[in-house]
Amino acid sequence: MVEKSRVQRNERLTAVKGMNDILAPDSANWEWLEDKVRTVMARYAYRNIRTPIVEPTALFVRSLGEVTDIVEKEMYSFEDRLNGEALTLRPECTAGVVRAVVEHSMLYEGGKRLYYMGPMFRHERPQRGRYRQFHQVGAEVLGFPGAEVDAEIILLAGALWRELGLDDVRLELNSLGQPVERLAHRKALISHFELNEQLLDSDARRRLHSNPLRILDTKNPAMTAVVESAPRLMDFLGEASLAHFRSLTAILDANDIAFTVNPRLVRGMDYYNLTVFEFVTDRLGSQGTICGGGRYDYLVEQIGGKPAPAVGWALGVERVLELLLEQGHGPRPLVPDVYAVIPDRDSLPFALKTLQALRALGVSVQMHAASGEGMGSMKAQFKKADASAAQFALVFGVEEVSRGEVIVKSLRDGRGEQTTRPVSELSAWAQTLQSNS
Ligand code: ATP
Ligand code: MG
Repeated sequence: MVEKSRVQRNERLTAVKGMNDILAPDSANWEWLEDKVRTVMARYAYRNIRTPIVEPTALFVRSLGEVTDIVEKEMYSFEDRLNGEALTLRPECTAGVVRAVVEHSMLYEGGKRLYYMGPMFRHERPQRGRYRQFHQVGAEVLGFPGAEVDAEIILLAGALWRELGLDDVRLELNSLGQPVERLAHRKALISHFELNEQLLDSDARRRLHSNPLRILDTKNPAMTAVVESAPRLMDFLGEASLAHFRSLTAILDANDIAFTVNPRLVRGMDYYNLTVFEFVTDRLGSQGTICGGGRYDYLVEQIGGKPAPAVGWALGVERVLELLLEQGHGPRPLVPDVYAVIPDRDSLPFALKTLQALRALGVSVQMHAASGEGMGSMKAQFKKADASAAQFALVFGVEEVSRGEVIVKSLRDGRGEQTTRPVSELSAWAQTLQSNS
């Protein structure tokens, strides 16, 4: 039950800390980005998947790994009040996608290319580029083992940066090899960190024996030296893993995709093997990773499916939009083509019918709506028209309306040029409008 004592009447309620309202005009940037995502995903034949925001807690514990930042301290978990089920707001979407793929036997007829967009939830300290509700776009390819799909999914991300007009994004690559190779590396890693235990912070000490690889992922600058001198996973890889990595880099080279190999790139979840990668920028301060991903060939099986290889990435929408703003070439603001000035209530039926016809032709129209009894003075209405940044005002004066006409007044050319036209000619006028924009 909701605790009544905590819900004071008339008290102003605010959004949960770290969870943001996305308001106009900013929301137009979001729609713009989402449109670009759909365009690029279609070009690569990726299909949309929409999974629930709430999943069983066990799904994330099992897939991300118990000794990870997300599972240890970032999940919004709760008990279903009605049946006691342990549930969690999704902190990421790969686990949910894999669950859905297994649950609906989606790999029965072969591999699948999927993408999603939506909110994720992590209890982190809110700061620039880090929120408690944030949004990801993700791509997942399931059922194909070859490096060519690792390459495809990286090329897809690159195509998205181009489509969005993002530059200054670097690609960092690494290979985590296979579990047996990681085991040998793990031993060497533990010895190295044990020898240097005095240089480790408390987080690292705690993970020394449970998840030493994750220590490489530290954001603590005091540990840079001990991490940089650590044994490199790449040196422990066998021929098959190295061959996979070489196939990937050969395709990237052929496509002029620049990358650097970062031996300390390990990513925050346990499910990765072989290829891991991040797209990074220096322009967003310490939250510079805009997209991360990799291969996760064992996750499908771990979630109860027939073994199937997979690879994917997720990008942070807030960080991508912030980078776009930083670069000063984000989307153009949305403005209506037309603002309808309606001086008299009696003109409303005729005006609204005319506006409907224009909208049906694809013209974007904002109608003046009264804020009181009357329609408001012409002066007040034109002020609103200017504020809307519309190209034209259509003025439905009583006289004109009685003759089946409307005044078309330009708001943008500075001269305020105006003509009176029969509404029957508006569709021809609207066509010139479309070709101008
Ligand atoms: P970080 O190292 O910055 O915490 P991460 O490794 O936890 O990132 P992933 O789980 O790989 O991030 O998620 C993919 C992308 O989602 C990140 O590269 C980032 O752009 C974005 N992201 C992750 N957590 C947040 C958050 N709390 N707020 C905003 N964006 C986030
Ligand atoms: Mg994180």
